[in-house]
Amino acid sequence: MEKLANPQKTIEVLKKYQFRFQKKFGQNFLIDGHVLDKIIGAAEITKEDFVLEIGPGIGTLTQYLAEAAGHVLAVEIDRSLIPILEDTLSGYENVTVINEDVMKLDLAKLLAEKAQGRPVKVAANLPYYITTPIIMNLLENHVPAESITVMVQKEVALRMQAGPGSKDYGALSLAVQYYSEPYLAANVPPNCFMPRPNVGSAVIRLKVYSKPPVAVKDEKLLFSMIRAAFGQRRKTLVNSLGNSGAVPFPKERLGQIIQEAGFPAAVRGEALTLEQFAGLADRIFEEAAKGHS
Ligand code: SAM
Repeated sequence: MEKLANPQKTIEVLKKYQFRFQKKFGQNFLIDGHVLDKIIGAAEITKEDFVLEIGPGIGTLTQYLAEAAGHVLAVEIDRSLIPILEDTLSGYENVTVINEDVMKLDLAKLLAEKAQGRPVKVAANLPYYITTPIIMNLLENHVPAESITVMVQKEVALRMQAGPGSKDYGALSLAVQYYSEPYLAANVPPNCFMPRPNVGSAVIRLKVYSKPPVAVKDEKLLFSMIRAAFGQRRKTLVNSLGNSGAVPFPKERLGQIIQEAGFPAAVRGEALTLEQFAGLADRIFEEAAKGHS
């Protein structure tokens, strides 16, 4: 089958199957071969790899993945795309398509079964309405993937990469950087998609760590502190944490701990690095263990 990655071929397939785009599924199909090459290059896929693709659409990226990888497992929620995929991917023997909502699958279990020990890589042009939940689902559930290379909204890519002092820095930056090393591989304008999205896009690759870059005694506490700190971003850390219920002792003691850790009393969460959040989480954990209530 001729490659789909151009507007003419895409329109031909859509017409043949009288496909109607569903806004609720975030359907913006890629129509630019250069962008597809960028995704494949950034993902560093080899014939040894087992690739999970989320949302194959009409199979545009899937064709490129199938040529580069050992096997591709593609998960598509929209039932009306399944007969199209059977057609557009009929020339590839190393592709399996399943009609499921990726958020409802136990991906760690599925990949353990299907990949059979091969290195797993995730690649996708993600539906923008659930970008963050999909990425956090993959990272938090320790899906056995070495890397995650995805097209996302430009703004989300910037947030994943940001550090302290940037307006883009927030809970997503810290969560992503706890589990992986982000690298922005390409900026992609709206005219590379059909239909065109209203926002700019970017390809970002997350290299998943086998071990987080910081050690922390209580991971759950760290993330509830991060959520609290950025939930009330303009407040001082003592107020945002103190008001949140994340810290099980009085605000006054929290203020002392923040200063003992070397921060000014009025410091805000947005000034702290991941390592500093982890250090503070350990101090709070130890204080809580002393039995304050
Ligand atoms: N990969 C194709 C491409 O690049 O042309 C399509 C990308 S499009 C941005 C997102 C795709 O994800 C659509 O095919 C959409 O139907 C699918 N999708 C949306 N939500 C999904 C979900 N919860 N689980 C699986 N697939 C989903």
